[in-house]
Amino acid sequence: MIDTRFLSDDKRPLRTLVDEALAHAPRKMLFPKELSDSYGAYSAEIKTRKALPAAAICLALFNFGLILDYKFAPHLIWQFLGIRFLASTLPILFVVWISGRFLSHTVRDWVIAAGLVWGAVMLNALVAMRGATAAHLAFSVGLYLIVINIVFHLAPRVATTLSCIVCLTTVLLAWNRLVVMDDQTILALTFLIAAAIITLVANFRHDATMRHLYLLILREQIRTQDMEQANQELSAISYTDALTGVSNRRRFDIEFELACQNAREQKGVLGLLLIDVDHFKRYNDTHGHPAGDACLKQVAARISDQIRREQDVIARIGGEEFAIILRETSVAGADRVASRIHTALRAEWPQGLPPVTVSIGLAIMTGSSTSTIMQAADTALYEAKERGRNRTITTALAA
Ligand code: GH3
Ligand code: MG
Ligand code: MG
Repeated sequence: MIDTRFLSDDKRPLRTLVDEALAHAPRKMLFPKELSDSYGAYSAEIKTRKALPAAAICLALFNFGLILDYKFAPHLIWQFLGIRFLASTLPILFVVWISGRFLSHTVRDWVIAAGLVWGAVMLNALVAMRGATAAHLAFSVGLYLIVINIVFHLAPRVATTLSCIVCLTTVLLAWNRLVVMDDQTILALTFLIAAAIITLVANFRHDATMRHLYLLILREQIRTQDMEQANQELSAISYTDALTGVSNRRRFDIEFELACQNAREQKGVLGLLLIDVDHFKRYNDTHGHPAGDACLKQVAARISDQIRREQDVIARIGGEEFAIILRETSVAGADRVASRIHTALRAEWPQGLPPVTVSIGLAIMTGSSTSTIMQAADTALYEAKERGRNRTITTALAA
């Protein structure tokens, strides 16, 4: 997973940056500098994972060189062993290990490079101890360059700098043998330079492929995030009443079923308030449909303000009908909610919007089905209308 939080206050959207960079790839990799740090961290993680096993394999092969050392100078075998194992293998392994553990990704490659410069000096010392020819030296350093530039996957500028230092160190340390410009020396130097160039080209190509891969992964990640966000928005819309902004009938049905199920399983108490605006047909006929809509919004907002617990759900379940699901509520608690609603609707209304009253049917039950509770609340509501409206009637089959 690529970390994209660092780009949150970027001026150009992340998607545009990635699309533009991918449009140029792979012929011309114009990598956005805004993404450099993120790419550095992403690639360092992959490289660090591979670096230690790769270094261990290469150093194991390097130690097999003891067989050749023995062939060239058997009397120096303990010195060879000391240089190969104690002075080269252990320090390089340590540097690779520590660079992946504690250092930032920008410093990591340079620390490994320093360890590998030390390795080059040790290699030169070994070849010198063997008393080997310039061709022999060039072949050994050429192999070493392959390891540096291909196996370790250092950043191109680090690999380039390191290759130059290794070649320069070799030339300086073996100056006496290399200045003798016979055919063998010229061939040896050509091999060394060719090895450096070819392996650096491979390193650059690998880096370009890694960057391309990074951009493709990032693009997929952005698309997935966008789709998840769009899904969330769609799902929110599909559960919301467009006029009032409270939950709609679909969400109410799901939540009510769930609440009933929970109450039955946990032998809990469930309350349902059915709220119906009084004489709303007359309100529409007198003040017009737009005023009716504004009134419904006002009623929904005032009812919502009386709901103080997050688990309670308020929904518009019909034209001018609202419902509130109250989980784990006592009869007294639910009555308080109902009376707060009546009080809130009596408070001053906005200029030009005549006030309305509501009738409320309240049912509180234990272990009942959705239809039983709904029917009880509906009957209570009907009774509230019958008794003159603007009141609450309670049916309680629970304590
Ligand atoms: P009661 O006190 O008995 O509930 O009478 P009522 O007039 O409120 O009941 P009735 O069911 O006869 O009328 C409901 C009215 O609600 C009818 C309809 O015009 C109105 N209505 C339903 N949905 C909307 C809406 O979205 N906007 C507006 N403005 N009016 C609506
Ligand atoms: Mg009605
Ligand atoms: Mg009504």
